[in-house]
Amino acid sequence: MATFYDTHAHLDYPDYAPDLNEVIARAQTAGIAKMISIGTSLESSRRAIQLAEKFRNVYAAIGWHPTEAASAPDDLRPALRELAKHPRVVAIGETGLDYHRLPGSPETDAGYKKRQAEIFQQQMEVAVEFGLNCIIHQRDAFDDTLAQLKPLAGKVRGVFHCFGENIERMKKVLEIGSLVSFTGIVTFKNGQNVRDTVAATPLDKFMLETDCPYLAPVPYRGKRCEPAYVKEISETVAQVKMCPLEELSAATCRTAEEFFGRLK
Ligand SMILES: [Zn+2]
Repeated sequence: MATFYDTHAHLDYPDYAPDLNEVIARAQTAGIAKMISIGTSLESSRRAIQLAEKFRNVYAAIGWHPTEAASAPDDLRPALRELAKHPRVVAIGETGLDYHRLPGSPETDAGYKKRQAEIFQQQMEVAVEFGLNCIIHQRDAFDDTLAQLKPLAGKVRGVFHCFGENIERMKKVLEIGSLVSFTGIVTFKNGQNVRDTVAATPLDKFMLETDCPYLAPVPYRGKRCEPAYVKEISETVAQVKMCPLEELSAATCRTAEEFFGRLK
């Protein structure tokens, strides 16, 4: 059976409180050998680390989500540094910029964007210090996100997770040494634009993820998503890439192990 990794899962969310053991077991049965639980706040990051200590095939990413920027401490760095020392922490994130829902007036919008940029910068700084890469969340903020990451290219790389942008933007991400990752959206009927981007992305420049509990692939669309469904995502991506599952497995796992150095 072809093996895959779920490089972006929110296993600390309450959605999994009732049956996380079964969720992890189903992932293993489906060939999803490793999973990364992603932090969205310090509390969530601590929970991700706890899960990584509990389950040998779960790893942690620690970070603060841009939509939660308003509640972030002024300086995130000291607490992040403490957590980053943990051997099961494989990346900083998710971090980045999200302009999808702005407060709504020119002054408040500017302040909100500034705060997001500050905590994004702090997280990239810690990533550089620890030799870790970043998991990037961006929504309606592609140019600003890329512009903020670019000066650090060479010191830190990002994976633009849940990538839904066009081919031209994918190329801009790769140009600065960063990567993209694709979710269950590739299986959606209305996901042709993402499939076009998948088709154009070199086999060694992307990873797979669920972003669970969100974005369950077809035939589970609308239900709670879980890491086992990387199987369905991988099948669609293999079709789009016109390559055998084994080849996709080898490429995406190698890319993930190289990007998340501590994943081995
Ligand atoms: Zn996420």
